[in-house]
Amino acid sequence: MTRDVREFLSAHQDVLVEELVGWLRIRSVAGLPERAPDLIRSANWLAAELRATGFPAVEVWKGEAPAVYAEWCAAPGAPTVLIYSHHDVRAAKDELWEETPPFEPAVRDGRVYGRGASDAKGQIMSHVWGIRAHLAATGRDAPAVNLKFLVEGEEESGSAHLAGLLDDHRDRLGADLVVFSDTLTWRADHPAVCTSARGMVMAELGVSGPLRDVHSGAASGPAPNAAVELARLLGRLHDDKGRITLPGFYDTVAEPSERRRAELAALPFTERDWLDRSETRSITGEAGYSVLERLWVRPAAEIISMVAGDPVGVTRSAIPAVATATLNIRTVPDQKVDEVAGQLRRWVAEQLADTVEYDLTIARETAQEPYRTPDDLPALDALAVAMHDGFGQPPGRMGNAGGGPAELLSRTLGAPVLFFGVGLPEDRWHDSDERVSIEMLMNGAATLAHLWSRPSALR
Ligand SMILES: [Zn+2]
Repeated sequence: MTRDVREFLSAHQDVLVEELVGWLRIRSVAGLPERAPDLIRSANWLAAELRATGFPAVEVWKGEAPAVYAEWCAAPGAPTVLIYSHHDVRAAKDELWEETPPFEPAVRDGRVYGRGASDAKGQIMSHVWGIRAHLAATGRDAPAVNLKFLVEGEEESGSAHLAGLLDDHRDRLGADLVVFSDTLTWRADHPAVCTSARGMVMAELGVSGPLRDVHSGAASGPAPNAAVELARLLGRLHDDKGRITLPGFYDTVAEPSERRRAELAALPFTERDWLDRSETRSITGEAGYSVLERLWVRPAAEIISMVAGDPVGVTRSAIPAVATATLNIRTVPDQKVDEVAGQLRRWVAEQLADTVEYDLTIARETAQEPYRTPDDLPALDALAVAMHDGFGQPPGRMGNAGGGPAELLSRTLGAPVLFFGVGLPEDRWHDSDERVSIEMLMNGAATLAHLWSRPSALR
């Protein structure tokens, strides 16, 4: 079986790459009205690909952002698996891409470069070719498990309408297991099964200073400065141990279990390797926890934008009237979005209310709860076995620093979520020169071909 899968995939590697390149040319950027036709084209492209794979029922669900739904349920008695991913991509700053522009994909050094290569069109292509390899290697004319695809079109803008989509199509989406393919694995030479994803709360904070931008030569000294007030506040978001200072923030955060700590400690890790692969300069964060614990099992709070005064163009030497920041809080079980939002509101009010006018907006419809795959889920072991076959090594266990609608899918469909992604930390998701390793796509497809061949293990 392993050899048949390998042979089939090797013989079709060029086709897989060519198909991915064709799809990456479609600018399916999330959340931009002018890209709406491209999102439709992208959805139609995938729908055609799934029909060509053999799926008897494939639909494009239009609505706010086109989602692709497909089902191939021809294995009575076998479990039903819903595969979740997304075909929309992040916007790209063309000028920052070093060799080839984001929507002119190219193959270099064993990788496909282009926006969406790893997040997440490449991951979906691993699925498509995983199913094709499963059929070729087993000689079956339909998969040995019942498969459904739900590939949404607005993950990158926060899946705001996914809950509605799940409700509208609840009768079609029933499944025993959700396979969530919008994640990373640890290293090409040391795969790992992801078993958790962090949640996310996004907030915009605007702080007011003078009534309008006033010349600093006229008012500097006694006039309040919005940039200074905002910087002062954000500087207090973490204490000197790297802990988040919102009162009550850690009340429901459990210490990682010994088992979880041991799983993460077993991954090959050096600070140098992590700095290189994550393209960062130094390590910071919460004292008392390893880098991987800070990344996957501890919460984090980031400031992802700060704007005040004249950041570009003419400098007017004015005291800014307004300063704004975007905050991104990554939560872990058992934190709840609503509670964290309340903690943030109270903290900002306490810190600013008496002195500074402000406006705080917390995005409710795009907030995501964290998710943890149950440790004793049999499908976790099945995936580990399939990854051993697909990657040629037994996988470790890891977490996902980012989020996604895993908890929403699990809660709405009443099924556990198994994460499987073929992205790597060095793939530069959301960044310039996004790329995906062709070897990872192939190993991912091989893993899935094996996984679908052992349906009883997926119950
Ligand atoms: Zn993604």
